[in-house]
Amino acid sequence: MSTLPSCPQCHSQYTYQENVLLICPECAHEWSASLDTVELSDERIIKDSNGVVLNDGDDISVIKDLKIKGTSLVVKVGTKVKGIRLVDGDHDIDCKVPGIGPMKLKSCFVKKIV
Ligand SMILES: [Zn+2]
Repeated sequence: MSTLPSCPQCHSQYTYQENVLLICPECAHEWSASLDTVELSDERIIKDSNGVVLNDGDDISVIKDLKIKGTSLVVKVGTKVKGIRLVDGDHDIDCKVPGIGPMKLKSCFVKKIV
């Protein structure tokens, strides 16, 4: 059973491995196996406004009023949010804001409650 990744260029599934290289027989693309087969680590460190490292499940509070685009809703400064989940992207915190619902926040606008 081959678990080689498909070609990043043409998405062919007939890639084969030669030492540290993966080779696509269809478009002749070659790339380094180590880069593509090593699972991307989940070790991205996300810090709050005070530089404190955030983790999944942390409780945070909002440090400034945040207007929600396209609505008249505002997440008020001091709003506490429980059980955040860290995600990739510009807005790196996924959470459920009390009274508002699920939304994404930027870590630079929150602080961890300890
Ligand atoms: Zn290819």
